[in-house]
Amino acid sequence: MVKDGLTGGEGALTPANQQLKSPAMAIREIITLPDKQLRLVSKPVDKVTAEVRKLADDMLETMYAAPGIGLAAIQVAQPLRLITMDLAKRDEDGETKPRPRVFINPEILSSSEEMSVYEEGCLSIPEYYEEVERPAKVRVRFTDLDGKVHEEDAEGLFATCIQHEIDHLNGVLFVDYLSKLKRDRVLKKFTKAAKRAAE
Ligand SMILES: [Zn+2]
Repeated sequence: MVKDGLTGGEGALTPANQQLKSPAMAIREIITLPDKQLRLVSKPVDKVTAEVRKLADDMLETMYAAPGIGLAAIQVAQPLRLITMDLAKRDEDGETKPRPRVFINPEILSSSEEMSVYEEGCLSIPEYYEEVERPAKVRVRFTDLDGKVHEEDAEGLFATCIQHEIDHLNGVLFVDYLSKLKRDRVLKKFTKAAKRAAE
């Protein structure tokens, strides 16, 4: 199952395996609806410190273990503008080489008028999938783990995924794009489940 979150497209979006594991990495807890932290606006990363690198490593490990294809720092309760992603696809032999990516302080510089629809999911809204329409292409600027700034054009799954994750940094969830009826239904379901779990 693919979470965080898109199942559309070529159907082979299962995340890459976990060869990146090192003893220093740790899986962190992913927060889910209705946790209010998901609505926080995350702060920019001032400097790529050892702590930021460790967070990125942990987020990758957490994302692969979930499994998911994208994760924003706030999903592990860290309100920082940091995203991890791996959109590696299986080749014909069913082998997948991991292609971990880290985006620090990512921003969308421009968006296409052309739109595309993907079925999205989110590790913070488990087991829920809905189609969302977003700009088909975006140009993004971000900093890498070496502190270098890049600009890149994204399309297809990459475009959708980076928009979904940048939304997290602004406290926006994919269910916000659905009808009020659908959104309320999801919120209710997760609020009830959380109450039951707390009893
Ligand atoms: Zn998400």
